[in-house]
Amino acid sequence: VNRRRAVLGAGAAAALFGAALARAAEAGYAAADLQHARRLIDRGLADGTAWSLVESLTTEVGARPAGSEADTRAAAWAQAAIRRLGLTNVRAEELPIRVWQRGSATARLLQPYAHSLVIASLGNSVGTAPDGLAAELAYFPDLAALRADTSDRARGRIAFIDQPTERTRDGRGYGRAVAARVEGAIEAARRGALGLGIRSISTARDRVAHTGAMRYDLSVPRIPAFAVSVPDAELIARLHARGAVPRLQLAMNNHSEVDATTRNVIGEVAGGELAQEIVLIGAHLDSWDLGQGALDNGAGVAIVSAAAALIASAGARPRRTIRVVLFGNEENGFDGARAYGDRYRDTAHQLVAESDFGSGRVWRLRSRVRRDALPLIDALAALLKPLGIARPADAANEGTPGPDAALLMRRHRWPAIELTQDGTHYFDVHHTENDTLDKVDRDALPANTAAWAAVLWLAAQAPHAFGPLEAPAA
Ligand SMILES: [Zn+2]
Repeated sequence: VNRRRAVLGAGAAAALFGAALARAAEAGYAAADLQHARRLIDRGLADGTAWSLVESLTTEVGARPAGSEADTRAAAWAQAAIRRLGLTNVRAEELPIRVWQRGSATARLLQPYAHSLVIASLGNSVGTAPDGLAAELAYFPDLAALRADTSDRARGRIAFIDQPTERTRDGRGYGRAVAARVEGAIEAARRGALGLGIRSISTARDRVAHTGAMRYDLSVPRIPAFAVSVPDAELIARLHARGAVPRLQLAMNNHSEVDATTRNVIGEVAGGELAQEIVLIGAHLDSWDLGQGALDNGAGVAIVSAAAALIASAGARPRRTIRVVLFGNEENGFDGARAYGDRYRDTAHQLVAESDFGSGRVWRLRSRVRRDALPLIDALAALLKPLGIARPADAANEGTPGPDAALLMRRHRWPAIELTQDGTHYFDVHHTENDTLDKVDRDALPANTAAWAAVLWLAAQAPHAFGPLEAPAA
């Protein structure tokens, strides 16, 4: 992907900037702040810091599930990295957590034909008995079919949900499919199933299994839950279509509720006259144990750190404090986001935002702010237009700013901005062994850095507050 393709030529950009300037001045921004935002964008577009960071994190640490020894090393890496980039007040705020740990997982079709399947335990799943579990599969085309089932078909069997995931730019296909992973075991156990298998929540055809968090309901048995690769799910579907009832040998071995420690890593660009108000930009430092956590969420860690560093190195002091928060344990419990909210509940937040959708180009800006702050957001968005970022008229103020930031927005009524990245290919490798550095779109990182730097700067300089939100966000 060529960076120049999405960025306008100098003449067109200058004309757009002129229009954006007028609009922003009308909204109340100082001309000097807008000129500075434009400088940040120009510098961001030539900035290789985000790539250096994600290369370093994936090479030197790699997979870093919350509470693991690698998670501890990642936190040390992150503190050193953002300190080196000029952030101040760098610290790690520890929190105790209970974590799930993956053991081995194997599955073999015994009938009607012998095949070994590529599977992964879902996060939080219990294991099988030590000698495994042999049972027939009860096939359901999707979660809705299992939910609607009133027969006894799943009883004494392993329920299999062949839930497809639609490829979309904004991730809504994942949003529609993921409940099969999260809630499938509850629905299966309610119908007497001994286990749950799902087609990986995946938009790719690679023979890898996609993990991710699932949960139980205390009122029904906790049954082992696993994802199979898409090609293996299609094998199961073909057998079902032939009228066969496949029989599976499953063995899984996991550990739950292990005491551990994780932490939020924090660094700041200190503010001036409104230093006590926080402009929060987050990403999550933890990853699943498979792969290297390159797209999820090494890229986000790199982008937000680089954006804040750009502001720090540009010299001008922001009015409000810009705070980078690299959250602990987003993947399996949001412990870091919850702890942050508890700790800073009485601190005014001008913004909560997050980059957690891989390395794709930003194509949209949405917000969730007080109504009287909308002209400021519109002005900010106009400045980002030359980067190919649109502000849709439809649902413009119904943004969701990433998982940790959204939790904080909902709990604390803190205002938010979402920069939507192109996630067309994100769910090809999400939560798999294939989430490795080579999947990161190196050429798209500078524009991400540039856009966030401008957003953070203008949120910090805004003439009035973006929040708190008038009503709890849905
Ligand atoms: Zn993530």
